[in-house]
Amino acid sequence: MTPDQAQRLAVEASHALAAAGQGDMVWGHAAVRDPRGRGIWIKAPGWGLEEVREDRLQLVSWDATVLHGTGAPHKECHIHLRLLAASPDLVCTVHTHASAAVAFAALGTPLLPLSHEGALFGGEDVPRFRATGALVSTRELGKALAADLGTAPAALLPKHGLVSAGRTVPSAVMHAVLLERACAMQVRAAAAGTIRVHSGRAEARAKRAECWPDSQLEAGWHYLLRRAADTLSHPPVSREDPDRD
Ligand SMILES: [Zn+2]
Repeated sequence: MTPDQAQRLAVEASHALAAAGQGDMVWGHAAVRDPRGRGIWIKAPGWGLEEVREDRLQLVSWDATVLHGTGAPHKECHIHLRLLAASPDLVCTVHTHASAAVAFAALGTPLLPLSHEGALFGGEDVPRFRATGALVSTRELGKALAADLGTAPAALLPKHGLVSAGRTVPSAVMHAVLLERACAMQVRAAAAGTIRVHSGRAEARAKRAECWPDSQLEAGWHYLLRRAADTLSHPPVSREDPDRD
């Protein structure tokens, strides 16, 4: 991967997350490891996920200094810096305030494999970061979050949102999307009554392998990019074009 490709993927990851409904106004971000080892490519603060373009990215060093781009980095850049520093095989990390993930985490109950999405964790509960429900705004909190995530595809930040990680950009994005969808499914079922039917651990493991190989994650990613392209071909009024209809 070249730095140009990393920047393109950082833009696409943002757009795919927006198309999946994970935007929270201007909060939440995806980060792609710089292939030259300088740090991460991440959007600058102040932009929504669907608004990200290559000239709205920053290259942020491992000590949270902006090397390319303007302004300060996101306060929560430490999430991505510490997750990617902790696991050299990871290429991309995601942090969003996905609403179903926050609602589900408030229930304080294990995530069950009710659906294909829920099988992503192979019948194990999703990890949770409990050090704070406030911003992950320091190196130390980022390191604690990396330890809680471990090798899982994603984790919940109760009272806050989610994080996900992947060895490819499509997998990191899809892990966030699948966790959000699994949470939404369980919140919906729990709202209707007692949950009685879900996969056991063996079936969940088999479903994880069958439903979520890299090829399926990439298929979902390409679908989201098509959705994003469709939306962006009819953009809302931008702040550079105030007179546009
Ligand atoms: Zn956050």
